[in-house]
Amino acid sequence: MMCSLWRGSLLTLTSSLNRRVFQCCRQLGRSYNIASCMPEAVAFQGVSDHSGLYKFSVNESDRFWGAVARQRLSWISPFHTVQNCDFSQGKIKWFEGGKLNVSVNCLDRHVQTCPERVALIWERDEPGTEVKITYRQLLELTCRLGNLLKRQGVRRGDCVTIYMPPCPLAVASMLACARIGAAHNVVFAGFSSEALADRIRDAQSSTVITVNQGVRGGKVVDLKRTVDQAVQNCPSVQQVLVAMRTENTVAMTDRDVPLEEEMMKEDVVCEPVAMDSEDVLFLLYTSGSTGKPKGLVHTQAGYLLYTSLTHRYVFNYHDGDVFGCVADIGWITGHSYIVYGPLCNGGTTVLFESTPVYPNPGRYWEMVERLGINQFYGAPTAIRLLLKYGDEWVQNYNRSSLKTLGSVGEPINTEAWEWYHRVVGDGRCPVVDTWWQTETGGICIAPRPSDPEAEIVPGMAMRPFYGIKPALLDTEVVTVLSSNDSTGALCISQAWPGMARTIHNHHQRFTETYFHPYPGFFFTGDGAHRSKEGYYQIVGRLDDVINVSGHRLGTAELEDVVVCTIIIMFGVYVFVVLKKAVMVEEDVLAQQLREMVSRSIAKYACPDFIQVVRCLPKTRSGKIMRRVLRKVVERNTDELGDLSTLDDPDSVHEVISDNEYEVKHW
Ligand code: AMP
Repeated sequence: MMCSLWRGSLLTLTSSLNRRVFQCCRQLGRSYNIASCMPEAVAFQGVSDHSGLYKFSVNESDRFWGAVARQRLSWISPFHTVQNCDFSQGKIKWFEGGKLNVSVNCLDRHVQTCPERVALIWERDEPGTEVKITYRQLLELTCRLGNLLKRQGVRRGDCVTIYMPPCPLAVASMLACARIGAAHNVVFAGFSSEALADRIRDAQSSTVITVNQGVRGGKVVDLKRTVDQAVQNCPSVQQVLVAMRTENTVAMTDRDVPLEEEMMKEDVVCEPVAMDSEDVLFLLYTSGSTGKPKGLVHTQAGYLLYTSLTHRYVFNYHDGDVFGCVADIGWITGHSYIVYGPLCNGGTTVLFESTPVYPNPGRYWEMVERLGINQFYGAPTAIRLLLKYGDEWVQNYNRSSLKTLGSVGEPINTEAWEWYHRVVGDGRCPVVDTWWQTETGGICIAPRPSDPEAEIVPGMAMRPFYGIKPALLDTEVVTVLSSNDSTGALCISQAWPGMARTIHNHHQRFTETYFHPYPGFFFTGDGAHRSKEGYYQIVGRLDDVINVSGHRLGTAELEDVVVCTIIIMFGVYVFVVLKKAVMVEEDVLAQQLREMVSRSIAKYACPDFIQVVRCLPKTRSGKIMRRVLRKVVERNTDELGDLSTLDDPDSVHEVISDNEYEVKHW
């Protein structure tokens, strides 16, 4: 209690200092034309600035969303009802009566106006080997794949599981599903075969699309092998389409279809299916606080509109900009801000295959220089990790193309925010700390859009997006906290088009999780503070879901990643051992794990060092050689003693090199 109070007042102090600094930069009273920013606003009576537009968007929600939906999406037939929502039943419907095709919105209409514009820049693992795909090429890939899926028996309403790293064929697979009316279920290609099997079974997929191998941080990972293991326990799977990311051949069974070879036999034209606004676009699984992951369902029109609008206004994205979101397509961030938002806006979007520290900690910024990235969107954990390597890794590269810096996934602490702003952005790029979640579909709270030059407070998501009406609820007496300077459960009090519609096959779980805790409100699961000025700051999850590297992991997935061998040595040194097979963002994950372990064991001990290792030196009978660890910790590696009983002598070298490379004073 004492500790959190102290932390709270420190936070308030730092933010008020920062606020003053930023207020100096603010140019109050500057007039501007809101319609030059959002053309639809011309028709909104009495709206002349950002706050007027925001108020209109929440008070006249039908008119606001109706106008932007008509303006920004291409419809096959128009909708008759803007929204039909009732939180008490968990009923969320937008743009009923309308028909459209998401892939047409993301591809065909841009091919008509600018076929040679680059849609995707595939930033492959090896720096300097990027591949550019134009809108025309991406449409061709999508059509061929759509035709192949149809030939393989995939029909409207089926759900295709995609287990691929970020690559053009993964994007084309998602869009091909959208084109033919199938839903997709992208599973992060770092998840284990069990986690993949769970998701395939729950989604009842008969088709899985994967690659032979993934390449990440200089390492090759056998993704097809993971799929082979998973599908053994998935009776619904009839075929696995296998793309070749590397030249290495993998064992193919009767069930497997060589993707490139077969798609090249297909036509480059594939008739888009007219989908209802509320047909399913995709499922995406996320962890809940209890057991089974939830397959959140997003539908066509509302999701697409919301991601494209937030992409345009939160990041101030303009035609010709290069948008660099370094998330994986397996997370909602990848869906919304690598694929659907940018492509709906006719943007150029980067698909990042590597890690923040491969081949060195300058990777992001070298990429920014080489690709001319204008908006960079990443996770605080990665920023915190890079900060520790020092400023030179950033300053070695020209970052003058950068205009906006984004952060997502977890709270960004002031030190990381300042470094991101001052060093990465040279103090000239707005930093947008964006709060949202798989359920919200797109960004809900972020410092931009706002009036031009409005202050940005470090480490705060601050302002609700158009159409988003946040509320803080008292967790004990379930009442709305109406005054500023209060903390409570973060809820949203009216529907918006991007929100999830249900949990696949579990509508009751959907209503119970999101609408029952605070009747009349959508409950986000997060706590938040509203400052005196009315700005929102996310405090963290209110349930026991753990956020690792900016992504929610329930205890089941966490156990999947970590063998919970936590060895406390001398009360000050802790080893956390990762399961060998894990291929998640190691450095980023290691960083986050250290933070997590530090928090959870802080109750019992106060370690000075936490080291994440892949293995520990064990004897053949399975005992951990503690004396070896002690010598490593003491940096006394010349005196390791007799190692002849070690099961795997290499494990000592690994622990030593991890120790030299990674350990920093906590
Ligand atoms: P996911 O659905 O896996 O993307 O996780 C969403 C969760 O991540 C949210 O409910 C928050 O707990 C956390 N989160 C996302 N963005 C932020 C942010 N900008 N600040 C604080 N927490 C965040």
